[in-house]
Amino acid sequence: MTVRTRIAPSPTGDPHVGTAYVALFNLCFARQHGGQFILRIEDTDQVRSTEESERDIFRALRWLGLEWDEGPDVGGPHGPYRQSERRDDYRQYALDLVEKGYAFYCFRTPEELEVIREERRAAGLNPGIKGDLELPAEEVQRRMDAGEPYVIRMKVPDEGVCHIDDMLRGTIDIDWGQVDCQILLKSDGMPTYHLANVVDDHLMEITHVMRGEEWINSAPKHQLLYEYFGWQMPVLCHLPLLRNPDKSKLSKRKNPTSINFYERMGFLPEALLNYLGRMGWSMPDEREKFSLADMIASFDISRVSLGGPIFDVEKLRWLNGLWLREDLSDEQFMARIRDWWFNAEALAPLVPHVKGRAEVFSDVAPMAAFMFSGMLNLRPEDFSHNKLDEGDIRRVLQFTLWRLEAQRHWSKENIFADIKMLAKALGLKMGDFMFPVFVAIAGTPNSWSVMDSMALLGPDMTRARLRHALQLLGGFSKKETKKVEKEYAALPLD
Ligand code: GLU
Repeated sequence: MTVRTRIAPSPTGDPHVGTAYVALFNLCFARQHGGQFILRIEDTDQVRSTEESERDIFRALRWLGLEWDEGPDVGGPHGPYRQSERRDDYRQYALDLVEKGYAFYCFRTPEELEVIREERRAAGLNPGIKGDLELPAEEVQRRMDAGEPYVIRMKVPDEGVCHIDDMLRGTIDIDWGQVDCQILLKSDGMPTYHLANVVDDHLMEITHVMRGEEWINSAPKHQLLYEYFGWQMPVLCHLPLLRNPDKSKLSKRKNPTSINFYERMGFLPEALLNYLGRMGWSMPDEREKFSLADMIASFDISRVSLGGPIFDVEKLRWLNGLWLREDLSDEQFMARIRDWWFNAEALAPLVPHVKGRAEVFSDVAPMAAFMFSGMLNLRPEDFSHNKLDEGDIRRVLQFTLWRLEAQRHWSKENIFADIKMLAKALGLKMGDFMFPVFVAIAGTPNSWSVMDSMALLGPDMTRARLRHALQLLGGFSKKETKKVEKEYAALPLD
């Protein structure tokens, strides 16, 4: 048997360090067994999936040095590797299950389902939606003929316990009572993650599914689907979730999670990969610094420890420093800085801003420095403003941060619309509102459009600078936070 592993990211948003982490472990496991590592794009959520995000995933993983043997961009014998291109096949698989009596057409609206859930809860039953939604065959036919929208749901046992075998965790028991009759095919004809994932893992001959532990609760449904289809299920391995230093699940609200951010900060890809390799895993000799090749040579999945690994940017910086000092010759160091700094991708967007303002080249570095920096060296007095008091300034920064956290489509236009709306809701002139944002992002109010800067710096760097400025100004106490949250919730934003 050839070992075949995969990652199956959904192209929604920035390329996440968690994706790289899972990719790294899948790659090492496959390589160690002389197997193959596949990249599949799970874009069944057509509303949230974007081509840009897909491109970013490819780019970020390649930047890290992670290469796949088969994928949407490199092809392979089991393609297409993008689920939206496999759409028609899934429907047939769902219909087969209906035919075999393992799945059924469901015509219930979300509102009806909520009522059913409520009733189940009130009766002291598990909230899981069960097969009692199934209608008699004639009624199904009647509704179909009438053109009523429907989904296809899988049948799931009402009671009993499902046993899941996991490479790292042994047997996991999950009550069937907790498990919904999962939708397999949505009313728009698209499959859900569960159906598409199982069908593709089977057709792509995946032998080991290594993914984040947040998917454990999906495993019973997947196991049952494999049984229904009569297919052999891949071996499961749920990796521990990366955590913030405060032990909560790694989230962009607290820490930069986008690989783009780490690239922009000037981390070395080798160091970031090395650090991800240390998340719950260690070399047999416990050495801190190792390359991808070292990791593959010594890889042993059973050495993964399940205590939540902490992704700590300070530790990553330290490790990156070691790589800079110990592994790069002076020539390499120069070449890396040149590639990082003086490349067309980084410089071209700045030219229109800089060219109109500079008289000599030596003007350029000071005015563009903030675009190549991490956190800015600011003082609280830099934020003083004659129209805004200190509380206003913190509120402007906090509200901007919250609003931009919710921004899914990072573009100058969208950022501008967010800020304009906030300024209006707070009854502040745009210029006054923008002042603290300017200082937080560019270090000075005398720079080019801060919307352009934020668009170019990207969401993670923008948020990190806003958070940094807030911290510098003392942030909000717990009690104040509650008040400010209420104020924010009451703002007329849409
Ligand atoms: N599309 C899922 C994700 O975004 C894949 C989960 C899995 O590996 O099964 O993480």
